[in-house]
Amino acid sequence: MLDKYGRNIDYLRISITDRCNLRCKYCMPDGCGKVAHEDVLSYEEFLRLAGIFAALGFRHFRVTGGEPLVREGAADFVRALKRVPGVEKVTMTTNGLLLTKYGPALAEAGLDGVNISLDTTRPERLEAITGARDVAARVDEAVALMRSLGVPVKINAVLLRETAPDICALAEYAAAGVPVRFIELMPVGEGRYLSGYDPDEALAALRRRWPDLHPEDVKLGFGPAAYYKSAGLSAPIGFIDAVSHRFCSGCNRVRLTSQGYLKPCLCFDEGADLRALLRGGRTDGEIREAIRAAVRNKPRQHCFENPAAMTERHLMSQIGG
Ligand code: SAM
Ligand code: SF4
Repeated sequence: MLDKYGRNIDYLRISITDRCNLRCKYCMPDGCGKVAHEDVLSYEEFLRLAGIFAALGFRHFRVTGGEPLVREGAADFVRALKRVPGVEKVTMTTNGLLLTKYGPALAEAGLDGVNISLDTTRPERLEAITGARDVAARVDEAVALMRSLGVPVKINAVLLRETAPDICALAEYAAAGVPVRFIELMPVGEGRYLSGYDPDEALAALRRRWPDLHPEDVKLGFGPAAYYKSAGLSAPIGFIDAVSHRFCSGCNRVRLTSQGYLKPCLCFDEGADLRALLRGGRTDGEIREAIRAAVRNKPRQHCFENPAAMTERHLMSQIGG
């Protein structure tokens, strides 16, 4: 459906849980509170909402979290989402740790693609970021498994100051055929207090290793990444630099939190409490109108350059990234 600025909004990110088996320092600091189980939507509630979103023209649904795979039944949820009339693609963003357990079920459920988050391949640095050991090795295993199952994989890495020396090693995944996307650190949640690595500097560093890296008009999935190719890399490298290269005019997405709160923009807290409508006995038509109004009023652009003007105060793990 169109918002009031004429953007076609057809992509919904659904966070099915705020819980996670990692504690990435920009996302979910140790000791942060958890949402009570009864406040999290059931899969049935998510599916009812998905049907209403699909009827409004939403076509791509991404399952995220927290860590989506710590919630039991995630693969069955993917299967059910794929069957909702109007839904064309269902993808997932995960830290990858549980893919060795659930990868086959997800592939069998029809998952159309998986983005695996990995900020560096250096074990000690990754442990300092995520709070866990052996993450890189487990992700590597997960990448191989998902590729062998025929599910398209991309690697997503947040650009942090301390991982600057590691980006070429991580980009080697692209030499092995897996697209790697570098995400600019956003001042959401704990991201406000950390130092990111400038995407332009990162690109310059990658060009020292692959001098022919050049922009290429590739479309992978439904996101805003700008891609670059090199003869030395069999897959592209992407940049999702929402802060320094604003792409709000082409934004196509809204977010649904695990508590059923519809968030039209990452930067602002204003949205629609769909859980209250669902649990208040409202009809599909009434919920549809609430979604339509919230999406129509999606803000024109973020204000990450001026964090004081942001009204979003939640952690990224509660929003879904
Ligand atoms: N647990 C899953 C994962 O890590 O992929 C899904 C949820 S996580 C919140 C989704 C994505 O948001 C991850 O790629 C993570 O790196 C990214 N992210 C979290 N906080 C961020 C921040 N402040 N700025 C940029 N990206 C962030
Ligand atoms: Fe968990 Fe993903 Fe957040 Fe890391 S980025 S703490 S894996 S939700």
